[in-house]
Amino acid sequence: MLCVGIFVGLVLESWSLPVQHETCGYLPPPVTRDFPLREGDILKAGSHGAQVTCLADSCRWPKAVDGFVYVPYIISRQYEDMDRITIETGMLDISSATCVKFVPRTHEPNFLNIESRTGCWSYLGMTGGSQTLSLQSPGCMWSGVAAHQLMHALGFVHEQSRSDRDYHISILWENIPEDQRDNFRKYETNNLNTAYDYSSVMHYGRYAFSEDGGPTIIPKPDPYIPMGQRDGPSLTDIHKINILYNCGRY
Ligand SMILES: [Zn+2]
Repeated sequence: MLCVGIFVGLVLESWSLPVQHETCGYLPPPVTRDFPLREGDILKAGSHGAQVTCLADSCRWPKAVDGFVYVPYIISRQYEDMDRITIETGMLDISSATCVKFVPRTHEPNFLNIESRTGCWSYLGMTGGSQTLSLQSPGCMWSGVAAHQLMHALGFVHEQSRSDRDYHISILWENIPEDQRDNFRKYETNNLNTAYDYSSVMHYGRYAFSEDGGPTIIPKPDPYIPMGQRDGPSLTDIHKINILYNCGRY
């Protein structure tokens, strides 16, 4: 499990996680300025590695002989129809533009178990077996939040954790509570030759984990560049999925 283990504590924009699976904490979501409830986020599965990118075969979902990458899932019956549609819209926003296809599980041994637990969170990459991906209803019921967690499950970390992030953003440590500063760590990531993407659905918002309402992330050189959108995957997000999974024609 090379790719897990990573962020131990990662997460998000304002919550703090229940501790299970020795995780990473995350959150009962409170409120952030630009988004009510954020992902909370990446759970650590197994190991103590510090790898932050998911390039190993053991972390990526396997490619089928037909060139597609099928990611089987089951969705808890606790969701209402509208919730299910929201989640499936998040899936479609990814699968419609990549070779990654989310498919209802039949008998596959490795699959996503989508449930409404506390907060929005996921493991990083494929862990093997059943892996829970939590999208709490109603707090996480935006298709972009679903897409964000699905991208974690595909192996992607937060954009502002990138190794080159200091060229593109400033972290205002003084506005971040000490016990939340781990959420702003930088990692040695493989950026897949893509430009830093403020519009990534994997980027935190300007006030993520703010202690007193002040900004915690400021883009540079233009401090007004929008960040933290959760409408859905950006073009670069889609591009990165296609690169990581060698989607070829997409
Ligand atoms: Zn996240």
